[in-house]
Amino acid sequence: MTEAAPDCLFCRMVAGDITPDVVAETPTTLAFRDVNPQAPTHVLVVPRTHHATIGALAAADPGLAAELLAAAQAVAVQEGLATGSAPEPGWRLVVNSGPDAGQTVHHVHLHVLGGRGLGWPPG
Ligand code: 5GP
Ligand code: ZN
Repeated sequence: MTEAAPDCLFCRMVAGDITPDVVAETPTTLAFRDVNPQAPTHVLVVPRTHHATIGALAAADPGLAAELLAAAQAVAVQEGLATGSAPEPGWRLVVNSGPDAGQTVHHVHLHVLGGRGLGWPPG
């Protein structure tokens, strides 16, 4: 499904019904700060079209999946986490998919996290 989904929070942001703190946008993606940040940088990157999970997106539109990845990298550069010259701070890309991973918003989103040391393994 790629049209806007009724009652989808991130579709409403893409449509402009809700205004998030936008940090970057492209014709196909939107990046905005997470309302409950888990690190000094915590940005969500979403496709403008609705896909529930990363797997659904990859199956339906692999080109858009690649654009989403590139958009996340651009946010990491913009936030000073990826500098291209060592030593760069570094950053983490998280995609929760399904209940075991704790996905709570069912419009695929990439979490760009950084600005502090990030523990491993994740919870
Ligand atoms: P998930 O758990 O599905 O991987 O991540 C959903 C993310 O969306 C959470 O980190 C949560 O804080 C964020 N979130 C939920 N509601 C809102 C909102 O209204 N605005 C913003 N900016 N982020 C939200
Ligand atoms: Zn949606």
